[in-house]
Amino acid sequence: MKAQNNSFIGFEDGFEESKAVLFGVPFDGTTSFKPGARFAPSAMREDSWGIESYSPYLDKDLEDLKLFDYGNLELPFGDKMSALKMIEDTVDEIVQANKIPIMMGGEHLVSYAPIKSLVKKYSDLNIIHFDAHTDLRRDYLGEEFSHATVFRRVHELVGDGKLNQFCIRSGLKEEFEWAKVHSHLEKFTYNTLEQRVDALINEPVYITIDLDVFDPSVFPGTGTPEPGGINFHQMLEIIGILSKLQNVVGIDVVELSPKHDASGVSTAVACKTLRELILATIK
Ligand code: MN
Ligand code: MN
Repeated sequence: MKAQNNSFIGFEDGFEESKAVLFGVPFDGTTSFKPGARFAPSAMREDSWGIESYSPYLDKDLEDLKLFDYGNLELPFGDKMSALKMIEDTVDEIVQANKIPIMMGGEHLVSYAPIKSLVKKYSDLNIIHFDAHTDLRRDYLGEEFSHATVFRRVHELVGDGKLNQFCIRSGLKEEFEWAKVHSHLEKFTYNTLEQRVDALINEPVYITIDLDVFDPSVFPGTGTPEPGGINFHQMLEIIGILSKLQNVVGIDVVELSPKHDASGVSTAVACKTLRELILATIK
């Protein structure tokens, strides 16, 4: 008999023996519309026990991987720059131990920190990004670091041709214009994902999923819901394509706001998406 613990389902190993390390980032300090993503990591851990560790889609089980759950980082809410630094330091520790960081946000700004850490080791790091939103503003209300600017800042770390963005359906005209020059951005769909994945098969890749990529009918529990998104079967198809990648060096799921979906369905979708993404990409 196995007792339920406080970790995400299937994360039952110690740090030393683990292949990948999960940590939660309860931060939503720059959320512009409806805050609440800070509650996501704990909600996902708790509700993960409502799904199985085994995936019938992939015929793989989280229990067959060596996985450690680090818990949530304690972060200062009023100071996003020191919060980012603390996340970066944590990822440094994980990466230096040759383990793969898996992050549960939090709002999307937090993705900047693991990417900043990973480019120190992988100077040719590629980003695969799913989102309803461009997140490419130069600044947001004068702030350079925000969930709406995060991939403009990431571009400053990785350079042209390294950002791959899919299913994007909202942003400023100037962001879409900027992307034409600096980013591989596919509006609405992911028809070019397979071609990009084939080109990146052995390259270091970071995968970030802003869960508002889902349609709000599938996933209402998010701070900036945006009609016109994908369904769960399309996410499974995406993850199937991502499973071809041989060198995924970090992953995250962000922007669940559990209190905006009283049914709990959004949290279940987030948990199952994370389970599938881990099973597909952690080799
Ligand atoms: Mn985003
Ligand atoms: Mn978004």
